[in-house]
Amino acid sequence: MKAVVFHEFGGLDCLQLEDVPDPKPGPGEVLIDIAAAALNHLDVDVREGISRFPVEPPFILGVEVVGRIAELGEGVEGWAVGDRVMPYLMNTCGNCKYCRRGDESLCLEAGFISFSTSGGYAEQLVCPIGHLMRVPEELSDEAAAALQIAFGTAWHMLFTRGRLKPGETVMINAVGSGIGSAAVQLAQLAGGTVIGNASSDEKLAKASELGMDHGINHQTQDVVEEVMRLTDGAGVDLVFEHVGGELFQKGLDSLGKDGRLVICGGHSGEVVPFDIIPFFRMQRQIIGSFVYTRSEVETCLELARKGKIMPLVYKVFPLDEARDAMACMERREHFGKIVLKPGANA
Ligand SMILES: [Zn+2]
Repeated sequence: MKAVVFHEFGGLDCLQLEDVPDPKPGPGEVLIDIAAAALNHLDVDVREGISRFPVEPPFILGVEVVGRIAELGEGVEGWAVGDRVMPYLMNTCGNCKYCRRGDESLCLEAGFISFSTSGGYAEQLVCPIGHLMRVPEELSDEAAAALQIAFGTAWHMLFTRGRLKPGETVMINAVGSGIGSAAVQLAQLAGGTVIGNASSDEKLAKASELGMDHGINHQTQDVVEEVMRLTDGAGVDLVFEHVGGELFQKGLDSLGKDGRLVICGGHSGEVVPFDIIPFFRMQRQIIGSFVYTRSEVETCLELARKGKIMPLVYKVFPLDEARDAMACMERREHFGKIVLKPGANA
């Protein structure tokens, strides 16, 4: 099969389209013909060797995949060739105290499945059946590929970790990103008042179409001042943070009393100064969030099937243009996800 491989960590140039041996499903596994694979910033970190995950080249990137079952391994029951599926991308042990109580995202052995098998920048992938989720036919390949990380992460952050309740006000940082635009849709669906920020008025206009109530351009406006104006000085109940750096600090300063800031990323500054005094006097909370559970993704798949939410796809590239696709993502101009589609070469 064709796959995009890198043999040493580095920039875009290290990606190469190659013929690699066809993967074979072992017992309890299936072979998937990949229909679409979404790109994530994690892929850039992995390619550059700075992901802090145990990855060794040669390596095939891509954690978010949708396709159809092409072949069943020995002993596989309940699945058929042609079934439309996506793998739940976390590898969990199923046996630690967190797995046993249903909190897979806290698993002590958690890792990404494609780090131990292989990734989605390819024509095929082998997957253990314990990871398979059915994909409704109502969703296109591209939209389904764009759903899991964006909506799963946003759901876990807003509701499971952030405990968003109807009637609360939430500020969503960087609404132009995959998880930002997903969070706008889910928070709106849950009856929250949604304030969002972005680096351009175009991105804010698109987020308004998704249900954002108020937009703040963080390049031209003072985020905290605007939040206080919009909330009559009260601040927001929840900040949805995944950016780091200045937006993390502005998010904290935008919280009201007893406000929560839930965070899952920090690309724009992973180490930040922190003012302890208002933090404890206002009785605020900072809550870490990592990935999501399989059932959270299945709930989002059902919402997408009903047309209540829509995964946003910015652009689709054929597999042999993986470098261009990654370059496009690294320029951060996109609104929604960038997707590779192996079939697009044919
Ligand atoms: Zn576990």
